[in-house]
Amino acid sequence: MNPFRSILIIVMLLSVVFLAIAQHPVTSNTGRYTIVLHGGAGNISTAMPDSTRRSYTDALAHALKIGQSILDTSGTALDAVEQVIRYFETDPQFNAGIGAVYTADGTHELDASIMDGRDLSCGAVAGVRQIAHPISLSRMVMERTKHVLLTGEGAERFAQRMGVPLVPNTIFNTQKRAKEIEEYKQRLEKEKNGTVGCVALDRHGNLAAGTSTGGMPGKMPGRVGDSPIIGAGTYANNKTCAVSGTGWGEKFIKQGVAFTMSALMEFKGMTLAEAAEEIISKRLESNDGGFIAVDAKGNYATPFNAHGMFRGVATSDGVFEVTIWK
Ligand code: ASP
Repeated sequence: MNPFRSILIIVMLLSVVFLAIAQHPVTSNTGRYTIVLHGGAGNISTAMPDSTRRSYTDALAHALKIGQSILDTSGTALDAVEQVIRYFETDPQFNAGIGAVYTADGTHELDASIMDGRDLSCGAVAGVRQIAHPISLSRMVMERTKHVLLTGEGAERFAQRMGVPLVPNTIFNTQKRAKEIEEYKQRLEKEKNGTVGCVALDRHGNLAAGTSTGGMPGKMPGRVGDSPIIGAGTYANNKTCAVSGTGWGEKFIKQGVAFTMSALMEFKGMTLAEAAEEIISKRLESNDGGFIAVDAKGNYATPFNAHGMFRGVATSDGVFEVTIWK
């Protein structure tokens, strides 16, 4: 072959590889993984019956194992996050998918988002009423559209185009939530919610985050919280960390909690632990909620300033824990 042509081919091949790396920067390929998840923070009474506590911790452990089995076999953080949250969306104990709380009108409006720390690609849906797995629809928004956030009917039309079946809104009418909304109406205070989230570092050094919720119980129809807002309830950047929040969404939006975590690390040089402490104790107020975070080295944090936060963590180094209170 003409030497000039071979050099040209080599240069072209190298630039393709370079472009691929530039688009998907890998920060640290340690071969280790960490997965952290939450099932909501709030006023979780320590007087909870043993059977209820066990039922929550069993569900958290089951979700962790789903994520672990993906990460163990070199699967991606993004797949682990999506599959863990899909599981939570089928468990009525949690305020996501089937267990979504009621709006003030007695309906259900679900929010979710997902983010890939490799290249900041992200997708979200808000106010969907007929979607069983908002987390997967969020991933479709990320991968199959030019947009980041689709709402309500538009999101559902997009779901149908993607072949996702619509479910009737009444499918979310569970006994547990119906009882809670009655209690809520009498007390009119913010309560524990059971939003779910997951963050992960995979063996390839990539971070991902996702969050899914029915929102705040008794919310005004049309209200959107922090969970589908990239930078408020969810954020992931390989350079810094992956974050998923739970609690009083309006506060998380005002403080841009998830992005601020990343910004404190990137621009102020804070460690994950320092950034988490700054946010939970200085930027959020008592009882606002909590969040989970993991950095590119696999360090993790699960700060909260409410009574409790359903949470769990597993690592390739053998950590496997599920907890509710401090
Ligand atoms: N942050 C969610 C929202 O405000 C609720 C929660 O996490 O419990 O919609």
